Amino acid sequence: MRDRNCAFDLAMKECLGERGWLTRPEDKAAHARDWLDRYGEVPLGIARPASTAEVSAIVRLCAEHGISIVPQGGNTSLNGGSVAISPASVILSMARMNRIHTIDAADFTATVEAGVVLAHLHEKLTAHNLAFPLHLGAEGSAQIGGLIGTNAGGSHAMRYGMMQDLVLGLEVVLADGTVWDGSRALIKDNAGYQLRRLFCGSEGTLGIVTKAVLRLFPAPVARATALLALPDPDAALRIGALLRASTGEFLTAVEFFNEPGLSLLLKHVPHISRPLETPGPVYLLVEIATSIPEIELPDILDRALSAAFETGDVLDGTIATSEAQRAALWRIREELPEGQRLEGRQIKHDVSVPVARLAAFVAEASAGSERVLAGVRVNPFGHLGDGNVHFNLSPPEGCTDFEEREMQLSQAVYEAAVRHGGSIAAEHGLGQAKVELADRFRSTTERSLMRQLKSTLDPHGIMNPGKVV
Ligand SMILES: Cc1cc2nc3c(=O)[nH]c(=O)nc-3n(C[C@H](O)[C@H](O)[C@H](O)COP(=O)(O)OP(=O)(O)OC[C@H]3O[C@@H](n4cnc5c(N)ncnc54)[C@H](O)[C@@H]3O)c2cc1C
Repeated sequence: MRDRNCAFDLAMKECLGERGWLTRPEDKAAHARDWLDRYGEVPLGIARPASTAEVSAIVRLCAEHGISIVPQGGNTSLNGGSVAISPASVILSMARMNRIHTIDAADFTATVEAGVVLAHLHEKLTAHNLAFPLHLGAEGSAQIGGLIGTNAGGSHAMRYGMMQDLVLGLEVVLADGTVWDGSRALIKDNAGYQLRRLFCGSEGTLGIVTKAVLRLFPAPVARATALLALPDPDAALRIGALLRASTGEFLTAVEFFNEPGLSLLLKHVPHISRPLETPGPVYLLVEIATSIPEIELPDILDRALSAAFETGDVLDGTIATSEAQRAALWRIREELPEGQRLEGRQIKHDVSVPVARLAAFVAEASAGSERVLAGVRVNPFGHLGDGNVHFNLSPPEGCTDFEEREMQLSQAVYEAAVRHGGSIAAEHGLGQAKVELADRFRSTTERSLMRQLKSTLDPHGIMNPGKVV
């Protein structure tokens, strides 16, 4: 075994050089654990390819030596997908493949390597008056390959869709090292099965994304953003529906959170103050945007919301009057996961339900959790516009067996989601955390189809094993 690992080590060094193959304990430790520090074995080494040809060579070597490959982007995913389940693994860091090849203003496309960080792409596009409309709290670290791996959604998915809707073409290294070049910049491309979609959300279990052609949009020139305090979750649904009807295609985000989430944020995260005089129990952050300068967005938002103030569905609210105020409102929403994390032990769920069922789901999942563990603290927040709820649980004071209840608590939450026609995995993927539970909630046909796909594309099971299926 030792000799085999030595031979592999030498071959990797030869293939990638000093910069491309890291085996010092401190280098391995920097990539070994996931963002929440819940999962991850120390791998044999960190491979840092600089080109598609190097990715292909790594995959061939790993296949030859029976070593597993775990692709890693920004390592911000929340279910342990980007770290190894066994030490006989290589972490394939895409950080050096971070070139933006082209930004095509005529085609509204960008061709980028998989290691490009999302915030970096946003910055580059600003100079071209173009936008890539995927936004999430981790955008300063998350990479295009990782976002494709989890099929990320974020706060603007209600208007622009998820990553799979924003990817026009892909280049992927398959499990035998073959390179599939499907990097076409086409909106209409139906010459067979939608292969690119297969890799969106596959979490590195079917192949390694090396390049992507992304769909761009005109950059918004104006936005109107409001934070509202509401009496109850049903009011949030009514306002969501009202905004949809009265602001039409301008509506880009309807985000929700509750008083417990805001309290954790105020307790743990510095430089955030209570945004409204009247506390919610429920809050909505809403945004409309346009790329047409003549459109008076604040008037449109004001008119839409005045009806809601009159009916009592809004208790208090503010509309941002500057970019700094807008950023401060968004910071509240984006730091909610950090407030929850800093509170300590937590159990996270990322589910989706049809939008109209969101309030009923939250009530039912809260009651189900309470039945499993009396006094459990519930902090739901997320993307009301597309029905995505991040349903977080913290232990009651003095609780010693919180972790032991995880399976029962998660079962209660997922059963409520499924009862309401929802999914147990909305935008964070399954990683290693949810594989077993996902299998329980799959139909036999679905389970069998997924296993067939996996064994066809990765017959030796070296691509990110222990994740998804
Ligand atoms: C504060 C915070 C807020 C977040 N908010 C959101 C949100 O609003 N919406 C949302 O969708 N997610 C959100 N996330 C989750 C996370 O940011 C996303 O899952 C993101 O897509 C992960 O990107 P990454 O580059 O960090 O990927 P990683 O964590 O490195 O990897 C994710 C998965 O993709 C695979 N992978 C990585 N690179 C490749 C590649 N090149 N080819 C094939 N597979 C690959 C990995 O093996 C892994 O399975 C949030 C996370 C944090 C910490």
